[in-house]
Amino acid sequence: MEKHDVAIIGGGIAGLTLAKFLAEQGIDFVLLEEHNGFFKKACGEGITRFVGGYDFFDLYESRAGIEKSIDETNIYTKYGVLRLYMPVLMTDKEKIESELARQAIKRGADIRMNEKVAKIEKGENFILHPQNIEAKLLVGADGLFSITRKFLGLKKLRYAVAVEGLSNEIELDVDKIHVEMKKSVVKYGYSWFFPKKNEWNIGIGSLKLNEFKKAFNKFKMKYNVKKWKAGYVPVSKPVKPYGKNVILLGDAASQTIASVGAGNMPSMICARIAADAIKKFAIHDFRDIDTKEYEKALHNITKMLKQEHNLAFLMHFVIRNEYIIHKLLKKFIEQASQYYKKLERGEN
Ligand SMILES: Cc1cc2nc3c(=O)[nH]c(=O)nc-3n(C[C@H](O)[C@H](O)[C@H](O)COP(=O)(O)OP(=O)(O)OC[C@H]3O[C@@H](n4cnc5c(N)ncnc54)[C@H](O)[C@@H]3O)c2cc1C
Repeated sequence: MEKHDVAIIGGGIAGLTLAKFLAEQGIDFVLLEEHNGFFKKACGEGITRFVGGYDFFDLYESRAGIEKSIDETNIYTKYGVLRLYMPVLMTDKEKIESELARQAIKRGADIRMNEKVAKIEKGENFILHPQNIEAKLLVGADGLFSITRKFLGLKKLRYAVAVEGLSNEIELDVDKIHVEMKKSVVKYGYSWFFPKKNEWNIGIGSLKLNEFKKAFNKFKMKYNVKKWKAGYVPVSKPVKPYGKNVILLGDAASQTIASVGAGNMPSMICARIAADAIKKFAIHDFRDIDTKEYEKALHNITKMLKQEHNLAFLMHFVIRNEYIIHKLLKKFIEQASQYYKKLERGEN
């Protein structure tokens, strides 16, 4: 039996960011990823640069895979265009994940591809099958349908359905992000047009499967995309992210900005926080550890994600009137734009 202090299941942006910071701290761990390459999941590939007091570049420490930095998002509602000032990085996500893995491996990480964990067993420690790996602490960074969540017996997460694809036939301003929030396009969701280096990542998603299907049928007729990729985004409030000697990370813990379905930056922030919690657990050789400490350390980011969840719920299920939503968004966008402008001036 191969033994480690920590085993991470999942080599998406959450697991890889954790791997990088754990390796930096010299923690003994192994990361198991079921696919033989990175970024196999659908994603719009946009990353909000500043979230909850963190700057993406402090977590990522590289510029590899960054295609563009965009400051303005045009949000089209039935009642006009709202302009949000918010720095967003357009990326090649495969390169981002590969770069995180490269940094982690350079610092000594053990990342194994093509290793799907099919079963988790608990004896004195955790045993992962079929790898026959024993670990004192288990990290589930294994996405929405996390085998680790199932093992902990936690309830399933609520999710939205979305598709994305690449197109080079979009005639919009390439220096802006474009988002449509119109019920005539999709109910309980939105569509997006993200400018990449040489093409667009476009997509559409909804909190309701039947509305998604209707909207996507119209959307795909309108835009020329070679291959659509479908996926799910967790939209529950951030949930209990731990069990006894287990912590959950990223989509597995619903650590997403539910109002826009953005999980890349929150996953990286939570991974950074998880690495510090794990470092503390290592001091006592992972004995008698209180994994609730991890949840406590997440307090600020969790509070922010809960507010975003409430905003999404309010807009889609409580207000529903498009004019009032436009007005509400306008106010919210003005506040957010001021916040990001101040941040850039170093005033926050
Ligand atoms: C269509 C779409 C568009 C999106 N657009 C954006 C966007 O533009 N910006 C943004 O911030 N967010 C976006 N998101 C959300 C974002 O992609 C996720 O929140 C983010 O990828 C979460 O990262 P993660 O590492 O937690 O999970 P994942 O990326 O799902 O990674 C989990 C990893 O675990 C592996 N795994 C799972 N089970 C096992 C197992 N049993 N054994 C071994 N490995 C396993 C998987 O192969 C996967 O690599 C989008 C989501 C969708 C669906």
